Amino acid sequence: MAYLRAIVTDGHPTLRRVAKRVTPREIADPLFQQLIDDMFETMYDAPGVGLAAPQVNVSKRLFVMDVRDDEREPAVVINPKLELAEDEKEMTEGCLSVPGYVGEITRFNRVVVTGLDRNGEKIRLEGEGLFAQCVQHEIDHLDGILYVDKAKNVRLPKTEEEVEVAEAAAAEAY
Ligand code: ZN
Repeated sequence: MAYLRAIVTDGHPTLRRVAKRVTPREIADPLFQQLIDDMFETMYDAPGVGLAAPQVNVSKRLFVMDVRDDEREPAVVINPKLELAEDEKEMTEGCLSVPGYVGEITRFNRVVVTGLDRNGEKIRLEGEGLFAQCVQHEIDHLDGILYVDKAKNVRLPKTEEEVEVAEAAAAEAY
């Protein structure tokens, strides 16, 4: 059984902490497995394409993501590490912890990330576009960084065109 957890928003101190690495022993703990289930449930409910543990007030290095791509399974990445990041691009972004706003941010369009899965096995994921954007956004959360720290033109959507962008970004909100 998975439960919804409250998503904390900008101003909450946990969002500004550097999250702690997860130990293999911790991964085996049923409470940790419950956290993963709850994070998926909370992400889908929001809805978002990614959610980092600090966003549910847990200062540990893991995130869940599902970029709704038919060829890609939902994933949990524990102790993530960017192995490769290339091809900088400006992207529109939002965040479940900064509700309602969107902004423009420069990120890498292609990344390779390694880490551990929920069984403690090593994983390596690679991808482009929304996948790459999401991975960078979630790793930033683990380092106490919010996209609004780096983004420009962070705004509440006003014009019809901006509302459309915001709605698109809401579907892509992490
Ligand atoms: Zn976020």
